[in-house]
Amino acid sequence: MSDPLTITLRPRRQESLPDRHPWVLEKSILPPRPAPADGDVVDLVTADGKWVARGIFNGQSRIRLRLYSWDHGQPLDRDFWRNRLAAAVELRRLLCYDDPAGACRLVFSEADGLSGLIVDRYGEHLVVQTTALAMAHRVGEIGDLLGELLSPRGITVRTDRKIAAMEGMQTQEAVLRGEPLPPSVTLRENGLSFQVDLGTGQKTGYYLDQRENRLAAAACLGGRRVLDMFCYVGGFSLAAAKLGEAREVLAFDSSQRAIEQARANAALNGIENVRFEVAEAFETLESLASAGERFGAVILDPPRFAGTRQSIDHALRAYHRLNRLGVQLLEPGGILVTCSCSGRVSRDDFSRMLYGVVRRTRREIQILQQRGPSPDHPVRPSCPETDYLKCFICRVE
Ligand code: SAH
Repeated sequence: MSDPLTITLRPRRQESLPDRHPWVLEKSILPPRPAPADGDVVDLVTADGKWVARGIFNGQSRIRLRLYSWDHGQPLDRDFWRNRLAAAVELRRLLCYDDPAGACRLVFSEADGLSGLIVDRYGEHLVVQTTALAMAHRVGEIGDLLGELLSPRGITVRTDRKIAAMEGMQTQEAVLRGEPLPPSVTLRENGLSFQVDLGTGQKTGYYLDQRENRLAAAACLGGRRVLDMFCYVGGFSLAAAKLGEAREVLAFDSSQRAIEQARANAALNGIENVRFEVAEAFETLESLASAGERFGAVILDPPRFAGTRQSIDHALRAYHRLNRLGVQLLEPGGILVTCSCSGRVSRDDFSRMLYGVVRRTRREIQILQQRGPSPDHPVRPSCPETDYLKCFICRVE
């Protein structure tokens, strides 16, 4: 095989390029001549010709280059992809996420050295999401390798429309191998059963990253009256009711489908002290406060508020308002479980936002646990964006 084409870093940019970060932006490189084809393997070199890393080019994305190897002798061939996938799968085995009736994230993009590739296992089915053209171009090979490694019942690929537009790639929605995805599956998590709609559900169907946080939150909720805002299909609510022995749970989500699914999940687990309602969060928090309602615990797990760097301030204001409303509904000594899945909002920012809530409400907050995503969503110090999920468990005076 011929050597990959080279892409040269701009001389002034190479010092500021974070070492081993897998993204190289358009502004960091010189216009390539000749230009590689989108999806081609390229070598990244410094202006004085020193080899840096090997990656895949995409002239249509702001992320021009995704880097996969910092070892000069390592070609990005089938063995390379097999080894990366096998390492990711092996890690989940080590974490004991191999319950055949359970679900887990088998591959988490940058966190597993596979920028642009997400693979979730729902029972015996795999759902592959390509979030970069580099991986979309290789999805057939990836499907074959996953098939060899795991022998699943079926492998389906999906792409998010917005991400496809950013990457200049076609959306993919196809069965790669074996059987098509069933419309829904019943999964086991923390000893509870959840029916998850794989056809139209959010993310690839379920929020796998909150599994341990649901358990940790439940452990603080015994005997309390709990409010679960942004409940989706009932992850935190049912854990609170069953594992936490909460006295009563009120749960809200703006999605009608999610609420129907949540009610079905309560029934599936024989849980009767949870009430699920379709409602908008901010309005509901305000009307509960004006009705004089009080809770022993409030769980806030909103969707991502900050997608871009420019939107951080706006997001922090939204988190402040949400948490202020939540705190005002808490009895003294109440538990606040507050989350943010905005990668752009750092832990420090989130902590500072809570300080703002303390000053505004005159209620002291003690942070008891500062948690992250489940360990099948590892965090890489070389790629801070992988530290996207914060879940703080707090006591409010
Ligand atoms: N806590 C859930 C995941 C929540 S994801 C779990 O453990 O699985 C965020 C949820 O917020 C989604 O289900 C979405 O439908 C809902 N949502 C988005 N905007 C909302 C709003 N303004 N009011 C209420 N719910 C909202």
